Amino acid sequence: MSTYKFYEQVNKNFDKAAKYTRFDKGLLNQIKVCNMVYHITFPIEKDDGSIEVIEGWRVEHSHHKMPTKGGIRFSHKVDEDETMALASLMTYKCAIVDVPFGGAKGGVKISTRDYSVRELEKITRRYTFELIRKGFIGPAVDVPAPDYGTGAREMGWILDTYRQMKDDLNAEACVTGKPIQQGGIRGRTEATGRGVYFGIREACSIKKDMDKLGLDTGVEGKTFVVQGLGNVGYHASKYMTEAGAKLIGVAELEGAIYDPKGIDLEKLVEFRKETGSIIGYGTSKELPSNSDIFTQECDILIPAALESQVTGDNAHEIKAKIIAEAANGPTTADAHEILKDRGALIIPDTYLNAGGVVVSYFEWLKDIQHVRYGRMNKRFDESSFRKIVNEIENISGKKFSDDEMLNLTHGAEEYDLVDSGLEETMITAYQQICDVRDEHGLDDLRTAAFISAINKIGIMYEQMGIFP
Ligand code: GLU
Repeated sequence: MSTYKFYEQVNKNFDKAAKYTRFDKGLLNQIKVCNMVYHITFPIEKDDGSIEVIEGWRVEHSHHKMPTKGGIRFSHKVDEDETMALASLMTYKCAIVDVPFGGAKGGVKISTRDYSVRELEKITRRYTFELIRKGFIGPAVDVPAPDYGTGAREMGWILDTYRQMKDDLNAEACVTGKPIQQGGIRGRTEATGRGVYFGIREACSIKKDMDKLGLDTGVEGKTFVVQGLGNVGYHASKYMTEAGAKLIGVAELEGAIYDPKGIDLEKLVEFRKETGSIIGYGTSKELPSNSDIFTQECDILIPAALESQVTGDNAHEIKAKIIAEAANGPTTADAHEILKDRGALIIPDTYLNAGGVVVSYFEWLKDIQHVRYGRMNKRFDESSFRKIVNEIENISGKKFSDDEMLNLTHGAEEYDLVDSGLEETMITAYQQICDVRDEHGLDDLRTAAFISAINKIGIMYEQMGIFP
């Protein structure tokens, strides 16, 4: 386990921000504590007939809004402290981007590489069964999603298990990040990485902040390195490069590479598939150790793996001007101070990686509405647009080509609406955080984001009162 107690790190950030709010200590404590912590052990029979005991957790951090929401992590490093920290980050994250959920998180202490697909299915289903038994899952109660080590496949198993045991009209809304055929939503897989890109784009669009860093505005032309090419790291890098940024360094489990001339993301992914490693790709040079990725020359550093990666030990050597926290909790509290004192701009996790839960929210809404986005209005909009464009043709005497016509009269499909809702959310939340930062004369977006979250939750408690 890391020497940094993760939950304590989150609470340090909370306490720092709480000073700027007007709530009394008792209320602040209620916001901070984990409302329910469920620790389970259960047996599974492995393919060779042996029996293994599996350990897992589900933490519901805050019931100020229901259902609670947060992913399930499969990792050999998972423990109670980590699950509590991640659950509390979910609460603040949801508040920051105005997603009406409390925070939760699940963890199963396994290394996915040590199990067959059949065994993983057994573990996922049994874990879900235990959650059902204790009331830790349900569309109105607690809604899991993918996290490190899990994806759409596991979410499909969770839904199926839930459906076997519950006659619930809204069963599909008991979990998000599902395959499309099981009530999933288009755009969920790439959502976290897409949100990371939108967030970085917002940060880079503010001239006074870029001036301070000695950078031009805009993503285009900026260099970046990424730690972790999983779902989040890959998609963040994809949208960054599409917007004209240059990927120059990558770290993965097997090591790290750096190439100031630029790394082609798709070719690198292909190379890794073929060789099982990123090492040796193109003209890149291998770095002595994995963590050397942090100290490379670049404009933007994107940690997109696990928590407590940027620490007091390596923060002094970090040269990046922008730290874009795609992972949850990648920067320890002491490292944050070091980076901030050096003038770096830290785009905090609680805001930057919220794209996943934002689109999970859209998926949950879709599932309780029982209708796909765009189904009701797409054709209607298209025929209205066609009438307008035809009128324009008549008045102007110009005839649009088939391609132009298609483009001008396109009605929104599910993906278009999800993407536009995500973009809107990331832009609005960034503005809110910057407003809080400026209002308090802070130079720190993390504290501003926490203040914004505490204020929203605190006001809710004040209005509701505490149930006697
Ligand atoms: N696991 C993701 C996160 O850390 C997504 C959670 C969700 O969609 O509920 O934000």
